[in-house]
Amino acid sequence: MSTSTAALSYEDVAARYAPVIGLETHVELGTRTKMFCGCPTDFGAEPNTQICPVCLGLPGSLPVANRAAIEATIRIGLALNCSIATWCRFARKNYFYPDMPKNFQISQYDEPLCVDGYLDVDIEGQTVRVGIERVHLEEDTGKTLHIGGATGRIHGATESLVDYNRAGIPLVEIVTKPVPGTGALAPHVARAYVTELRDLVRSLDVSDVRMEQGSLRCDVNVSLSLPGGEWGTRTETKNVNSLRSVERAVRSEMIRQAGVLDAGGRVKQETRHFHEDTGETTSGRSKEEATDYRYFPEPDLVPLAPDTAWVAELKAALPELPRARRQRLQLAWGLSDFEMRSMVNAGAVELVEETVTAGASPEAARKWWLGELSRHANAAGVELSEVGVTPAHVAELAALIDEGRLTDKLARTVLDGVIAGEGSPAEIMTSRGIEVVSDAGALTAAIDEAIAANADAADKVRDGKVAAVGVLVGAVMRATGNAADAKTVREMILARLGAA
Ligand SMILES: [Zn+2]
Repeated sequence: MSTSTAALSYEDVAARYAPVIGLETHVELGTRTKMFCGCPTDFGAEPNTQICPVCLGLPGSLPVANRAAIEATIRIGLALNCSIATWCRFARKNYFYPDMPKNFQISQYDEPLCVDGYLDVDIEGQTVRVGIERVHLEEDTGKTLHIGGATGRIHGATESLVDYNRAGIPLVEIVTKPVPGTGALAPHVARAYVTELRDLVRSLDVSDVRMEQGSLRCDVNVSLSLPGGEWGTRTETKNVNSLRSVERAVRSEMIRQAGVLDAGGRVKQETRHFHEDTGETTSGRSKEEATDYRYFPEPDLVPLAPDTAWVAELKAALPELPRARRQRLQLAWGLSDFEMRSMVNAGAVELVEETVTAGASPEAARKWWLGELSRHANAAGVELSEVGVTPAHVAELAALIDEGRLTDKLARTVLDGVIAGEGSPAEIMTSRGIEVVSDAGALTAAIDEAIAANADAADKVRDGKVAAVGVLVGAVMRATGNAADAKTVREMILARLGAA
């Protein structure tokens, strides 16, 4: 349903309606082989080169479950505070789609591997506990490519190609419980949850969780109700492909549903598609005629019965999770909530921590990563971790500054060299001949020259007009190619002119 009224403001919608959100996230696991066969899982391989009779579903082939994928799913479940089933089964989900070579998907239905957990997310100084309904394991589908259409969609395409390389890659689905009560913060909570989940899965080292490559995919559920009223009908917006889009999809769907309700209409339960270009959702298929998937227990696989001792072992071996780590570092480094958030938002936590481990002070590490290096990353349009400078480089640079061999200004020139791939800071100092001129003889000579060339300024300083020393400091800095410490130079000039 569309409305002809002008778009409502988000603030107005959030003031009058209470949203309930829910998120379904798919994580493609980074196992070496597929879920039920030995095919490799490398991203970007030539189409249809990583396939076999099992993942193509050829008659007579039999699946065998991948233990590494089951282990990864249990670890995700444990990290999300879930209970792990002691016995559960895979289920066959029947539907016909060209990128599903078997015409069914092996998934889990009423017996998921992990249930009833939670993930805490921090947002604007408060903690929101997002309940986790279930975490289950399934296999991914292939990929369809529509050629010839303007937008890569099937409409207008002249041909469609199918690549089955992805078919059968292990996929973990993480479903939240409905999250009510977040009010106007709902879009932020949705984004913060997916961000936290991504970081958590990454810390477990079970997936590269790259949204742009599709190894983390998100569906966003939204409904609106009047405050205190019964929950409204929800829509499900599919395949939202970036963190920013998660936030935008919730916001735009809230505004759209409010428009429908304001006009006296009824929100239809349906699947919707998010459009990056307009930031809006459009109607997909109606859930009221949802396909009957005719789920039944997968007859070709034995039930899953994870040994409780094994699960306990996996739990004991979980790494420190991102939120706990942030809290520990914030305390250790004495940072305010705001300072910690800036570091998180810049993607700098890990880099700063590694720089401190490599010997730098937390202050120096933060200063370089959040200052100079963030500027470089922004200018180049890359992540901070991809700027070409390692924590070891930054620690080395900080040490050279502490030893008085580099000024901040020289250090920035040295960093340019590191970014350009010329080597380590010490190597660049040698190759480019950069070093603070601390040799007293060389500095004294430069100072005498500056005094001789700027007699007026020197006289003023001698007469007590100390502000005039700036001209002389400038001249010495130019003469040394900015390779002297300005503070030292100033003190030496004042001493020389008897004004100190
Ligand atoms: Zn295969």
